[in-house]
Amino acid sequence: MPDALNRQPIADELLDTLVHRLGADYVLTDAADMLPYVQEQRRLYPGDALAVILPACTADVAFIVEQCRAHGVPLVPQGGNTGLVGGGVPQQSLVVALGRMSRIRDIDPTNATITVEAGCILQVVQDAAHDAGRLFPLSLAAEGSCQIGGNLATNAGGINVLRYGNARDLVLGLEVVLADGRVMNGLTALRKDNTGYDLKQLFIGSEGTLGIITAAVLKLFPMPRVTATALVGCDSPHQVLALYDQLRGQLSDTLTAFEFLPRFAMDAVLSHIQGARAPFDQSYASYALIELTTPDAGLDLNTRLEAALADAFENDVIKDAVIATSSTQSQALWRLREGVAEAQIAEGASIKHDISVPVSRIADFIEAASAACRSILPACRICAFGHVGDGNLHFNVSQPEAMDTAAFMDLTPQFNRAVHDLVADMNGSISAEHGIGLSKRTELRRYQDPVALAMMERIKAALDPQGLFNPGKLL
Ligand code: FAD
Ligand code: ZN
Repeated sequence: MPDALNRQPIADELLDTLVHRLGADYVLTDAADMLPYVQEQRRLYPGDALAVILPACTADVAFIVEQCRAHGVPLVPQGGNTGLVGGGVPQQSLVVALGRMSRIRDIDPTNATITVEAGCILQVVQDAAHDAGRLFPLSLAAEGSCQIGGNLATNAGGINVLRYGNARDLVLGLEVVLADGRVMNGLTALRKDNTGYDLKQLFIGSEGTLGIITAAVLKLFPMPRVTATALVGCDSPHQVLALYDQLRGQLSDTLTAFEFLPRFAMDAVLSHIQGARAPFDQSYASYALIELTTPDAGLDLNTRLEAALADAFENDVIKDAVIATSSTQSQALWRLREGVAEAQIAEGASIKHDISVPVSRIADFIEAASAACRSILPACRICAFGHVGDGNLHFNVSQPEAMDTAAFMDLTPQFNRAVHDLVADMNGSISAEHGIGLSKRTELRRYQDPVALAMMERIKAALDPQGLFNPGKLL
């Protein structure tokens, strides 16, 4: 890659060509215009873009890529820029922001598919599916601004993975602009297709390092007609796990979400989130938020859930439970879970881990990782919450109230080592949902199987021999 000074005349020539093709309004070079694209919301990574390019169609993207290739200029694909690991932050490269490519190309309720361009906001896709009487189940707190291209490039998870899978499981076909400027037209809407390698899966979770996703065929599902929501209080993560095991057996696929909160998270939400109401008269060590759904309008899920929780109560698995009797109550229970990220900020700095282990090991993990962190800093406050039904925890360590923040953050390497070593011992993953980006590259090198890592490097070299697609990220 030429250095920044040598690159300037090249960049000027490239930008002139792009302005000629796209129009000056869609080639941003002014620092203020570029600001929303050069840093993430949390501003953890300094960004620096040569320009931000806003293509309108797949042919534009292919043109931009060809030009970048000819000039040897790196590029970063970007969606809603809601990523949390620095994956979309440019470093002396062009940003190719897909937001203008937001057309819904087709919706086929009988085939249960929707074909969308990469720049479609997730919520817009959910709404379009809803209008057609179908469900697109991917759901996360950033759904009002993240885009399908970004969701696929990060293999996003969220709150419905237990029932419907990750973004990876929701895709039938992809259209991708490759690093050589060709377009891979894989927009098939087929549930059965055994014609060799499943190439689309290479790009899902590739964080913009292998190609630019320009469109996708996504799976739709029958619309849920009945929902039941409950919050339960337990004495320990082991009880929560036992409850999960019992409910999964009794309620089968109606179990759509099973989320975990420790007392610290619940107390933080009740202290800091406006309108949050305590669910019980007393507090418990652990809580689980449970949601059941079914498309069968005749099924009485509240009664089923009540019966299952009564069993759990008799078996001393849970201590207390509240079942929502209206959608307003259900939303109020969800607010307790959704408020955790914000409430945690109000408790000071935290060192975050986004891990997964087999579901059966999750309670052991919480206990062992909490003990390991306390042996580093006895007064640290563990905020391990999240998608326990998927074996995925946001295992965050909050600073002690009285401690200097910088001194606490200096302990990051020790906490990372303790938590990630335990993850590795349990055959887990150091990145369950958010990806590798810039933030976990070193950790990936440490924990990934060396043969798998070498294969990833070979794939990267084969598909992007000039190394121009999102350089310095993931690998
Ligand atoms: P961006 O942030 O723009 O990009 C992310 C990565 O994808 C970058 O590496 C970028 O280069 C690449 N990329 C983007 N578009 C393309 C494309 N068209 N082709 C190729 N590569 C591309 N994530 C979860 O998984 N589960 C959650 O529950 C969750 N909750 C969140 C809650 C909040 C409040 C926030 C701010 C984030 C959350 N995230 C969550 C993280 C984030 O929303 C997801 O990673 C999301 O999928 C990113 O989409 P985006 O469009 O914003 O992508
Ligand atoms: Zn999450």
